[in-house]
Amino acid sequence: MTTLVLENPKSNIIDIQGDTWSERAMSASKLQKIQFEKGSSQYSNLELARNRAAFTRWKTIENLDKYLIEFESNFIKAGGKVIWAQDITDALEAVLEILKKSGAKEIIKSKTNTASEMGLNAFLENEGFQFSETDTGDFIVHAADESGSHMVLPALHKSTKEIASLLHDKLGLPADAEAQGIVRFIRDHLRDTFQTADVGITGCNFLIADPGAVVILENEGNAQLTAAMPKIHIVLAGIDKMLPALSDLDVFLPLLSTYGTGQTLATYNNIISGPKQAEDRDGPEELYIILLDNGRTDVLAHDQQRQALSCIKCGACQTVCPIYHTAGVSDFPSPIAAVTLPLQQVEMQHLSHASTLCGSCKDVCPVKIDIPRLLLQNRKLFVDKGLVNRTEKWFYYAWKKAMLKREIMSWTGISARKHILDSLFKSKDGLRKMPIHSKEIPFNEWYREKMNYK
Ligand code: SF4
Repeated sequence: MTTLVLENPKSNIIDIQGDTWSERAMSASKLQKIQFEKGSSQYSNLELARNRAAFTRWKTIENLDKYLIEFESNFIKAGGKVIWAQDITDALEAVLEILKKSGAKEIIKSKTNTASEMGLNAFLENEGFQFSETDTGDFIVHAADESGSHMVLPALHKSTKEIASLLHDKLGLPADAEAQGIVRFIRDHLRDTFQTADVGITGCNFLIADPGAVVILENEGNAQLTAAMPKIHIVLAGIDKMLPALSDLDVFLPLLSTYGTGQTLATYNNIISGPKQAEDRDGPEELYIILLDNGRTDVLAHDQQRQALSCIKCGACQTVCPIYHTAGVSDFPSPIAAVTLPLQQVEMQHLSHASTLCGSCKDVCPVKIDIPRLLLQNRKLFVDKGLVNRTEKWFYYAWKKAMLKREIMSWTGISARKHILDSLFKSKDGLRKMPIHSKEIPFNEWYREKMNYK
């Protein structure tokens, strides 16, 4: 096993404050801006780095077939085993086969969005396997039997108090524990698990075609232990995570850290190629990678929308998104997922409409994905394909009629303000408030009066 670990001793812990979902989402957004300033101070020309990153990812996605084959060949040469999974069922069956063949009893997992996409936790539980989450956020979410709410900060929807109370009830943590105490408690709780687990499951941030390696960025050191200590290591990766060469990391490691958590570099940057070799002291005896398609080639088939596959999953677009701040948790995954998910699963097409197209996501994207434009491309595609429901068709028919008639337009405006919006925006928890409308008469009435215009 060849593992290179780049350690950044200056990394920091992000503590997000707030009692309600909305407060924490806003706090995360503000923190992201502050942290980003720190992380980006390392660049003399950030735009140049973003342009290089965008170009590299675009070129890679355009030639994905070539790079995947190169990756497979090099990964096998280094002693790893490659499994291609067309869909989630294939991927889950592959995991199950490895676990059964190895007689696995204890499994540890580090943070992996691909596992969430596969519904791996529920699957393992149904199959009767015990497993432990080793990432702090995922550990909390798993203890609460919930799903993660942010691609980088999975437990963002829970306050420190809620977490302390949860772990107090389930594992005996002192109920008044603060953030640092919670992290220490989880670390102590997991220490033995790392030593006894026989299979480690991780995700990865990048696949490197040459030399067939996987790259994992992390801040807790848990992914490193999950990969190195059990005798079997399974990596779960979407086929879109590709980079052509190791030299590309000089752009992508700092860029992902800067936009993800505002660090100059993540604390641990692991580059893993192949299982343990005779001369190695530790590392897994077997290394598998499951390359998951699950509709990514459907996204690739769209000339414009394929740009979405350039995403490096930094989470910045999700952190700044006003819809996410309001709807949050599992109702709205992320702006980039609002582009890709509907192309992967047609029943998710409503996500492409859940956007104000404000453009904040585009502004913060390190690889310059034009998310608002891609959302519009999706909307057009669904209309062209007739994938619009009757209510929506009727609504736009009526809306067009109304907008073309001054009297109806004025009436609908006043009526919507008075009746519809007030009831739609009423919020029991007080998180949303309807803006107070002016008592003045509408402009067009004022104008008619002023100009004495009938
Ligand atoms: S779309 Fe851009 S901002 Fe959003 S997660 Fe992907 S890389 Fe980050």
